[in-house]
Amino acid sequence: MQSSQQGYIDIHTHKATKSTGIVVYNNFPEDLLPELTSNFYFSSGIHPYYLNDWELKVDSLLQKLNDSRVIAIGECGIDAYSKYSFDLQKKVFCLQIELSEKYEKPLIVHCVKAFNDLLQIRKYCRCSMPWVIHGFSGSAEIAQKCIAEGMLLSFGKHLFTQNLRFITLAKNIVISNVLLETDDSELTIFDVYKQFADIRQMGTEELIGAIATNFNRCFTK
Ligand SMILES: [Zn+2]
Repeated sequence: MQSSQQGYIDIHTHKATKSTGIVVYNNFPEDLLPELTSNFYFSSGIHPYYLNDWELKVDSLLQKLNDSRVIAIGECGIDAYSKYSFDLQKKVFCLQIELSEKYEKPLIVHCVKAFNDLLQIRKYCRCSMPWVIHGFSGSAEIAQKCIAEGMLLSFGKHLFTQNLRFITLAKNIVISNVLLETDDSELTIFDVYKQFADIRQMGTEELIGAIATNFNRCFTK
């Protein structure tokens, strides 16, 4: 990986669009890794919505973890709206945490209305790998707790909300804990950087440098 590459970084997307920077493209374990240009990397993981045949998916995931293009595990996590039990969600999530530690690949975490459980799991497992909470839209209090546990927060479409409380959080959060993403939205990563830079009242170039520093700290050991 070109660890010091400057430019835009989309830490989590489901759309393989053209980009001038680094893209971490979400891959579900049962899908093949597509052939994409050299700036494309992958995260592969079992989403809490899709726990059907999870044992088979773990096998498929294992086959991908020696591929150097797969730089993270996820998205994976816990979600109060999943039809699967919390117990099963946690079991499959914890399995992926173990893989993250073993293969030294950070986690891309999906967490919806389950931050108390997430924080407890993080404390309990004493992980050394970084976790990136993708699509963060929680409160300032939850943000601080996640950061205190060594997690990074990735922002995307929620930056376009009118919710003043959330925009204030985005404005004030310590920037060394931030990554940016497009996820499954219609936004481009350029839109997301511009919006975040506007909220912070900072230049885009400065933001590009800050996010690249965070990415390199997490993803190049
Ligand atoms: Zn996603």
